[in-house]
Formats: sequence, structure tokens, C-alpha cells
Amino acid sequence: MPTADDPHAGLREGVRAVCRRFPEGYWRELDAQGAYPAAFVEAMTEAGYLAALIPREYGGLGLGIDEASVVLEEINRAGGNAQPAHAQVYTMGTLLRHGSEAQKERWLPRIASGDIRLQAFAVTEPEAGTDTTSLSTMARHDGDGYLIDGRKIYISRVLQSDFMILLARTTPRAEVQRRSDGLSVFFVDLQAAIGHGLDVRPLRVMINNATNELVFDGLRVDADCLIGTEGEGFRYILDGMNAERILIAAECVGNGRWFTEHATQRAREREVFGRPIGANQGVQFPIARAHIDIEAADLMRAEAARRFDAGLPCGAQANMALLLAADAAWQAANTAIQTFGGYGYDAEYDVERKFRETRLFQIAPVSTNLILAHVAQHVLGLPRSF
Ligand SMILES: Cc1cc2nc3c(=O)[nH]c(=O)nc-3n(C[C@H](O)[C@H](O)[C@H](O)COP(=O)(O)OP(=O)(O)OC[C@H]3O[C@@H](n4cnc5c(N)ncnc54)[C@H](O)[C@@H]3O)c2cc1C
Repeated sequence: MPTADDPHAGLREGVRAVCRRFPEGYWRELDAQGAYPAAFVEAMTEAGYLAALIPREYGGLGLGIDEASVVLEEINRAGGNAQPAHAQVYTMGTLLRHGSEAQKERWLPRIASGDIRLQAFAVTEPEAGTDTTSLSTMARHDGDGYLIDGRKIYISRVLQSDFMILLARTTPRAEVQRRSDGLSVFFVDLQAAIGHGLDVRPLRVMINNATNELVFDGLRVDADCLIGTEGEGFRYILDGMNAERILIAAECVGNGRWFTEHATQRAREREVFGRPIGANQGVQFPIARAHIDIEAADLMRAEAARRFDAGLPCGAQANMALLLAADAAWQAANTAIQTFGGYGYDAEYDVERKFRETRLFQIAPVSTNLILAHVAQHVLGLPRSF
């Protein structure tokens, strides 16, 4: 039930109830093994939360970005990592906004039920990360379909998905007027693709994120895998970015709250020189500052979500929310590890795991530098820097 304090109190409690079944030790163990949280993702699917943004007519909960943010925030606040589950929440947005009615009717109800997993989203390439439009994976016409060749890197959850959204060039960059033209989005059936023109090579990265390098070598897909109009793909991907930024800002807020709550508890309980370390201003002030910064970031996240859900332009707010939340969470992570001292490095306390997980948000899904460039150019009207 909503309360005067929090309109999402009932939703929060529902997500917390699922998360309580997957305590910190569960995530710690998976992190040590580099294993995927399949049981958690299953439980969240059963509870309906991963279909938060899918309209009711397609079997989802039909909630807004504000509510979906709460779902992802609570996973991280409970000590988990929303990353393995978050793509199932929003990757389908490209299909929902730009797919044909036939594609939506065919796939969205099955994504909502969890019958099929759409958790992979392939954009980044070895030579094209921040500069997305320089990507060179090519999809060439081949009879009534396309043949795809190229490479992608750091593409997460491919082996835990049935389908993947792929951004590829359908017209070489040299032949288009604007560099954002000539890119197209495909809905790729991974079970049919892997071993038949798609090679998936798992990569070991700093966090437990099921990330891969992909090699496309003559992968054939049917024409009906194309989403929307050929050549318009970059704009479709941009359309989804505000939602992603707001949701990931909420994940940062969840991590930030986890860090300040744990640092506060530790500062109260840990005694050094015969008194709690939290009695020292040198220990308590950084925790208080981290708390203030996280609460402020969450207000910007709420404003971005309000605008998104009302159909208002929200690019500036979504970007600012992600930067504020990523910075606040990282500051909270540093404060927590300092408060825990040597224990902050001990895997048993989970601080080092959350610390590693939180660092990612300075880089992915978008580097904070690119957010600053967006605000400088599009909000303040400064000259383009690239
Ligand atoms: C764990 C993990 C999971 C990921 N999952 C996915 C996924 O599922 N799908 C996917 O498509 N991608 C994924 N990525 C990739 C991620 O989105 C990219 O790493 C990110 O966009 C940055 O691109 P890059 O690594 O090529 O950095 P580069 O483009 O090489 O940039 C390097 C640095 O230079 C800075 N820089 C570059 N140009 C400028 C400029 N003009 N002004 C100022 N600074 C600049 C950047 O800010 C960055 O800090 C993942 C990455 C990681 C680490």
C-alpha cells in the first residue's frame, strides 16, 4: 500500500520480500563462482517484476519508469546486483516502441511471462564504444534476409538469453549523409544463431556480469527480424536511452543506500580506542555527506521519471540523474570501504563486491564524460566537442 511518505511503499515491500529469499551470501557465492543468478531472476519473473514496463495488454504490469526504478533500486539496496535482471525490464522497449504489431503480439507476452529471455543488447564494438555511429558490424541483404559479419565486445547475458537486440550497419558509413543514418536494429534468435555464424566468447571482467565478445561470421537472419525501418536503428536506440539512464540511476541509488546503511551500522558498532568509530567526525561526516548526495540524486531521478512517465522531454534530467547517482554511489562506496577499514577488503562483508559493481556506472552504459558533453552541448548550448 502507498503511504503518505512513499507512494511506492507496497511495491518496495513486495520486491524486498523476494530479495529476502536471496540474501547477501547468495550474491557473494555467485560472485566467487562467476555464476549467473538464475534462481533470483526466476523468482523475480514469477513475481512479475521483470515485466514491469510491458503494457497489460501484452501480459505485463503496465507500470511507469518511476515504479520500475523502485524495483531495480530495491534489488541493489538489499545487497544484490540488479544488472543480471535489469535488461529483461527495458531491452524490450525497442520492440514495444518500434516493432510491428505482429512482432509485438508474437514476442511481448512471452517476454512478460519469462518464457523467453530478452536480456542481451549488442551495441559496443572493439573499435566503437563511446562513438557508437562508427560501428562496423554489417548486415547485408541476402535473398529475403540479411547476412551479418563483424564483432561486438562486452555484450552481457548473451548465454542467458533467448533473443538479443543487435545494432548493425545496413549501409556503410562512407555512403550515408549523416553518420547516424544506415544503422538498423535486429531481433536475433540466439539459439538459432550460436554455432551457425555467431560465436560467443565469455570474458572475465571485474564484476560478475556474464559479459562476452561476439564474432559474427556470415550469420543469416530472416527479413522479419528487422525492427522498424531499415537505416533508422540509431534513433530507435536513442529512444530507449532515457529509460535506461533513469533505471540505472535508480540502481546507483540502491547501491548508495546500501553503502550508507552498512557504513552507518558499522560506525555505530565498531569500537576503537574504547568508543564507536562513528563518534569521530572524521568517520561520520563522510557518511552524512554520502547520504545527502544520494538523496539529492534520487530527487533528480524522480523528476526525470516523472517527466518520462508524463511524456515530457526528459533527456537532460535523465542524463543529470545518472551522473549525480553514479557519482554519489561511488562516493558512498569509497566512504563505506574507508569506514570498514581492512574488513572492507574482506569478501565476507560484501563491501568490496558492491564497490566493484558500483565503479561500473562511471563507464557503462555510458561514460560520465559523455553525460557532461550532452549537458554542455544540448542543455547549455556550448560548441560540440566531437
Ligand atoms: C561489465 C560491462 C558490461 C557491458 N555490457 C554491455 C552490453 O551489454 N552491451 C553493450 O553494447 N555494451 C556493453 N558494455 C560496453 C560499454 O557500454 C562501453 O564500455 C562504454 O560505452 C564505453 O565504451 P568504450 O569501453 O569503448 O570506451 P572508449 O570509447 O574507448 O572510451 C574510453 C574513455 O575515453 C572517454 N572519451 C571518449 N571520447 C571522449 C570525448 N569525446 N570526450 C571526453 N571523453 C571521451 C570515455 O569517456 C571513456 O572514459 C559493457 C561494458 C562493461 C565494462
